[in-house]
Amino acid sequence: MRDDLPTVSFPNTITVPALGIGTWKMGEDPDKVPDEVNSIRAALESGWSVVDTAEMYGEGGAELVVGAALRGCRDKAFVVSKVYPWNASTRGVQDACARSLERLAIDKIDLYLLHWRGDVPLTETVAGMEILRQQGMIGAWGVSNFDVDDMEELFSIPGGENCAANQVLYNAARRGIEFDLLPWCQERGLPMMAYSPLGQGDLLHHQEIIRLSKAYQATPAQIALAFVLERDGVLAIPKTSRPDRIHELSEAVDLEISDEDWAELDRALPPPAAKKPLEMI
Ligand code: NDP
Repeated sequence: MRDDLPTVSFPNTITVPALGIGTWKMGEDPDKVPDEVNSIRAALESGWSVVDTAEMYGEGGAELVVGAALRGCRDKAFVVSKVYPWNASTRGVQDACARSLERLAIDKIDLYLLHWRGDVPLTETVAGMEILRQQGMIGAWGVSNFDVDDMEELFSIPGGENCAANQVLYNAARRGIEFDLLPWCQERGLPMMAYSPLGQGDLLHHQEIIRLSKAYQATPAQIALAFVLERDGVLAIPKTSRPDRIHELSEAVDLEISDEDWAELDRALPPPAAKKPLEMI
């Protein structure tokens, strides 16, 4: 168990490690479930705490895997799940949350996110999220795939300022948020959760990531993760179904990349020079 991981703090003063495990693609193949459960358990044992899932992943299958992994160690985890936009009406969000809680076999989701913006008015979703929070079924709520204009709109409606996080695509090859969304969130003390921090594996073949991995005797995954963890207020949620990779990924926090090498990476994978619409997967 590592107790030296960097941390991020939510507006409600809860502080969690800046490294958590993703679960997209888990719960789809029964043969892979034992490894998936062990991978989540290994992450919790390494002090990662945050487990990110969604009703979408495996159509509930990933939440069942998380539920199995949490058996006997619920207190070690900070559970994040997400509601489909079409389930995000005031009533719908409460029903979806109840279903997720049942699959997860827990009585509270620590952070519940609107997965992406759909047709339901934000006022309705916020009202449902606030009811869930008051009833204790969730600890906090937030959003995912929200750009700056969405965040401005959210914060202008009653209760919208209670949003506790925004989960977005962010890695060394997808840096658009650095132009405006990341500073917007940082100024308000709102953590960002970086999804696909390893570029779903593709980024690990980029020649600059490989160059840095050789220079630091690290693996490409460690370099990709170190890039995300370098940012204040950003929580990375890499997914791995391989328990043996948890230790490797944890060691990314020990890397001390020089300013010269970060500058070299900026030349190969430049930060945005202008506003780019938020990318999503
Ligand atoms: P990641 O960037 O985390 O990459 C996951 C891939 O990288 C998997 O194929 C995994 O394979 C592989 N991998 C993991 N560790 C290593 C390693 N050490 N060396 C080589 N390959 C490795 O992609 P995801 O898209 O899964 O993003 C992470 C999480 O973010 C998701 O699981 C989900 O929880 C969340 N997410 C949220 C979205 C949203 O809209 N809010 C959208 C997309 C993701 P293996 O399992 O075999 O190790």
